[in-house]
Amino acid sequence: MWIDIHTHITYQDYPEFRRILKREPFTAEILIRKMDIDGIDKSVVLPLNNPECMDYYGVAGNQEVISQCRRFPDRLIPFCNVDPRIMMNQNADSTIIELLKIYKELGCLGIGEMCASLPVDDARYQRLYAAAGQLSMPIIFHFKDKDRVGYGAIDELGLPRLEKMLKMFPDTVFLGHSQCFWNELDADIDNISRQEYVRGEIKNRGRLWKLFAKYPNLYGDCSSGSGYIALSRDPKGYEFIEKFKDQICFGTDRFSSLNEPVPEIISYLKEAVAEAKISGEAFEKITHLNFEKLAGCRF
Ligand SMILES: [Zn+2]
Repeated sequence: MWIDIHTHITYQDYPEFRRILKREPFTAEILIRKMDIDGIDKSVVLPLNNPECMDYYGVAGNQEVISQCRRFPDRLIPFCNVDPRIMMNQNADSTIIELLKIYKELGCLGIGEMCASLPVDDARYQRLYAAAGQLSMPIIFHFKDKDRVGYGAIDELGLPRLEKMLKMFPDTVFLGHSQCFWNELDADIDNISRQEYVRGEIKNRGRLWKLFAKYPNLYGDCSSGSGYIALSRDPKGYEFIEKFKDQICFGTDRFSSLNEPVPEIISYLKEAVAEAKISGEAFEKITHLNFEKLAGCRF
């Protein structure tokens, strides 16, 4: 079984937003048709509502994602997106936990894709981590560099702030994605290259090898170009997958059109197991078992 932990849908009922989107909406129906083509059984749908990227991609927010997932309960699983800056998360007696409980009751199995451009160890993020840990809701992050305009939780080269959070919140599961996360497979990156798609040999193992070994609450979301390119650029990617097979989840982050090619990460994982570069156990864990473990249920 394949569970894709990272997809989005765009606004379904508001065609006016096509003027920003500049393409046809990627609705729940289209996502399911795309999943059928790619051989994916279930998908996690991630709302976007952080102001840094809200409306820009026309990606649906919490309520619309929940309603659309309800129409296809056997195929779609909603997450919720709670921006750390909202009023309900302003202080220690905040009602953030009550809000997350409501989203959980509505079927949201986790939080994300977290795109708020605050340092990943910001006090407001920390309140969210505490609540998420208490409710066993994993959080998916897009990471970015502080100097980059755009969206994503901010950390420096080597992910020192993330490490502090992994240590402080051992009951909270952090799933990382984007170039600034996956490029840390390689020790020889700098402030510029960490933000790019780096290809070629990995000469020295980078920070992620140490962080994954030390913190079982750190997971990798291998979606989008960032996960696929970083893992496939060197055979050490297979070694990483095998070594940390309990902490990697399959995802695609595709939401542009039905005609988009099959995501490369699918053939990469299929070939890796067929050619015995990774074990069958690793393949099963990455494609669905790890997510089921995080979600606390079998699908
Ligand atoms: Zn995404």
